[in-house]
Amino acid sequence: MEDKEEQNTIFDIPVAQRIYYESSNSDSFKKLFFISPVILLLLSLAGLIITKQLKFNFIVKEKNQVEKIHSHSILGHLPYDEIAQEKLVYIEPNIRVHIDMSKSLMKMKKDAREEGIYLVFLSGYRSKKLQEDIFYSLKSLRNQVAAERARVSAPPGYSEHSTGFAIDIGDANNRNTDFEVEFEKTEAFKWLKDNAAKYHFRLSFTKDGKYVDYEPWHWRYEGSIEALKIFESSNRRSKNYKD
Ligand SMILES: [Zn+2]
Repeated sequence: MEDKEEQNTIFDIPVAQRIYYESSNSDSFKKLFFISPVILLLLSLAGLIITKQLKFNFIVKEKNQVEKIHSHSILGHLPYDEIAQEKLVYIEPNIRVHIDMSKSLMKMKKDAREEGIYLVFLSGYRSKKLQEDIFYSLKSLRNQVAAERARVSAPPGYSEHSTGFAIDIGDANNRNTDFEVEFEKTEAFKWLKDNAAKYHFRLSFTKDGKYVDYEPWHWRYEGSIEALKIFESSNRRSKNYKD
């Protein structure tokens, strides 16, 4: 009996009330319809703010890292460990380089020759001792203070040459431009500028370098993981400071 009564009350909802229920339902749909773009907008705004914050944090982190790298540098040069002697090979009677770059370097020289360009290797691996002699003897010879000298030569322990992955290159037909900025006017330099990247070589000290003077003759190899790791700090710095 009780069940029946209950059923009756359910089916006995007056028509007006039923309409009210229906219309109140569609009202909330309408409200939702109008509110949803606002919610979407708020959500995307929140997303944007979060992304910006993350990006900002990343930039701050990167900047800190660069500053850390810079604090390790001396007179604009970054520190480099000396490469193990067994990783060095002779490519000329008096020039040794890292074994990993020797093949690529010789191929570059050969390919250049086939195009009528005669590259000459001036200096490869340099020990810390040799770098010390160069840095201090030239400094006193030219009567320069260390800071001035550092713009043209790295202090011992801070030369890319000690890694075995750096090579100074000249033009065999223009030896008077060896180690001179005028080297950039030679056919050899023009060829290198257009082709060196194919052999994984890049100019270390570019024209707009912040710390070290322009050295169009000085190239470094970045064609192996080991080389890339060694020059990672330098690359990160130049990305931020244009070196
Ligand atoms: Zn050099």
